[in-house]
Order: sequence, then structure tokens, then C-alpha cells
Amino acid sequence: MSLSSYHTHSKYSDGKNTLEEMVQSAIEKGCKEIGFSDHAPMIFDCGWSMKQEQVESYKKEVTALKEKYKDKIKIYLGIEQDYFSTPAEGYDYIIGSVHFILKDGEYLPNDLSADAMKEFVDRCYGGDVYAYCEDYYKMMADIVRVTKCQIVGHFDIVTKFNEKMPMIDINHPRYINAIDYALKELSKTNAIFEVNTGAISRGYRTSSYPDNKTLDKIAKSGKPFVITSDTHNVETVNFNFAEEKEKLDQKGYKYIKSLEEII
Ligand SMILES: [Zn+2]
Ligand SMILES: [Zn+2]
Repeated sequence: MSLSSYHTHSKYSDGKNTLEEMVQSAIEKGCKEIGFSDHAPMIFDCGWSMKQEQVESYKKEVTALKEKYKDKIKIYLGIEQDYFSTPAEGYDYIIGSVHFILKDGEYLPNDLSADAMKEFVDRCYGGDVYAYCEDYYKMMADIVRVTKCQIVGHFDIVTKFNEKMPMIDINHPRYINAIDYALKELSKTNAIFEVNTGAISRGYRTSSYPDNKTLDKIAKSGKPFVITSDTHNVETVNFNFAEEKEKLDQKGYKYIKSLEEII
């Protein structure tokens, strides 16, 4: 029996498989639950989120699958709300994420590529990567108010490319201050944090978000974590969950075993 994932993408946004294929894969992998969290429509066209006109059919299709598979798996209708998504309504839960930093009227994607990130930092921040991180974590600090999320998505995604192209020293005082500010603000909310394996399955990192140091800081809040795969295809529905579970168990950190615990 595997833990279940609540961070799941399908063809409704940038995933490769249908909702039903993802459900069947979760059942095969021994998950008791699955939560869908396709990317919500954005206030600008980013090219990979759901379109506004798809929202109703996404909701209908997930609702129909809940009924069809109710004897085999519990399905939740969720959404991944970006800081710049249109408002969400009628979902079982929300993951709140920051994929873009708004700088001088330009939406800078933070997860595109190492080269793109370097170009943004050089062009828009005069090469000051910590100013870029400060802007990101200021938005993160506000993500629960903006998206009404129960789960904070990939909290330190700005470090996505740090293994392949080290740009951020996570021990730099300005980086620590930026993170600590966001954690302080988010600790005032009920939202919990992901341990997200998506960047490992896609070959960007060898460890999950957040990094161990940040994981330890978040754990001090006493909140449980939620292990998620941020999966975009049937192969990675519960990617690396056994290892993540073991890591959290060894550290004595709590994690949820059902979404019911937080919604
Ligand atoms: Zn995301
Ligand atoms: Zn995602």
C-alpha cells in the first residue's frame, strides 16, 4: 500500500495522460486516494494552464470518475492555483504555488530552465539572484491569502536548477532572511507544506522540495507534511514515496496519510 498523491496533472493542463488513466495508475500502484490538481486558468496566457472554458468539463469529469471508481479509490477534485490564477470555486482543496514573478510588468517563469532563470536575473535584477529570491518569497508569504490554499506547493522551487547550475547559496543571509519571512507569515495560516518529488522524476534534482535545511525549519511549526509527486504522467504517480516516507519517519516528522486530515 502506497501513500496517495494529491498533486496530479492531466491533459487538462500540462500532463501527458487523461484523468482516467491517472486514476487507473494510482489504483495499480496501490494508492487508496488520488487528488487532481491541474493548473488553474491564469489571468494571462502562459501556454500550459487549463483554459477558462475547460473548467466546467474538468470538474464534471473528475466528479464522474469519483462515482465510477468509488469502490476502488477515493478521488478528490483539486486545483493548483498560481499566484496569478483566476479565482477558484467549488474544489475539495487547493494547492497554492508561485510559478511567475511579476517584475516591471513582465511575468518571469521560475521553473522554465536554468538559462532562462539566469537571463531573468541578469536582465531584470542586475545579476542579483537574492533580489530575485526575495521577490519570490514575498509572493510565497502571501500565497494562502491570495489562493486560499490548504497546501503550499513546491515552496523552494527557485532552487530547481541549483544542482545543475548553482546560482543560489542557500546559506546566504539574504536567502535565509527571505525564506524565514515567508515561513513566519505562512506559520500564521493552517496550510501545510509539500514534500514534492516532481523535480527528481523529471531529472532536475536528486532530492525533493524543500531542501533538508528548509524541511527542518518547516517541521518546527509542528504541522504535518504532505508527500506529493507533482506527477505529469502515469509512471510517476507515487514516485519516490517510499524513500520520502522513510526520510520523514527517520526524522520523526509527521505527514498526512489521507487528505481528510486537512480538508
Ligand atoms: Zn507547480
Ligand atoms: Zn504541479
